[in-house]
Amino acid sequence: MDNCPFCQIIQSNTTMIKSSDYSVAFLDINPIRPGHVLIVPKEHEPDFFNLPTHVLTDIMKLAKRIAKAQKLAFQPVKVGMLVAGFDVPHAHLHLIPMHDYHDITSKQLLEGKVYRAKQAELEENKCKLRDALQKIKIHSTI
Ligand SMILES: [Zn+2]
Repeated sequence: MDNCPFCQIIQSNTTMIKSSDYSVAFLDINPIRPGHVLIVPKEHEPDFFNLPTHVLTDIMKLAKRIAKAQKLAFQPVKVGMLVAGFDVPHAHLHLIPMHDYHDITSKQLLEGKVYRAKQAELEENKCKLRDALQKIKIHSTI
């Protein structure tokens, strides 16, 4: 896609760290921490969860290698993963060397709006998710 910044990065090859059969890893230009990497599919797709399973697998295999490299290179406490995609409409996985709990967080958490769910709510939501999974299983071959 011509006006997609990630498609342009894939074609220009200038900031690429590593590529695999279906995906490419490069540094985020707005890093949360040094060594913050994005892994994107080579094919343009806006929604991460619309990617075919073989592409998702490829991304995770590449993420595992990059995370090992990040641990070695940046000595983080953890390497965190995040899929959000509000900024660029090309599916991407953030891989962030985390030195602090708040290196991956949400606005709700920062604003103190995260609450402790009651057991009943957790049970209810668990049932909703299980029911949804059952419906998906009936209607699809995922
Ligand atoms: Zn793109």
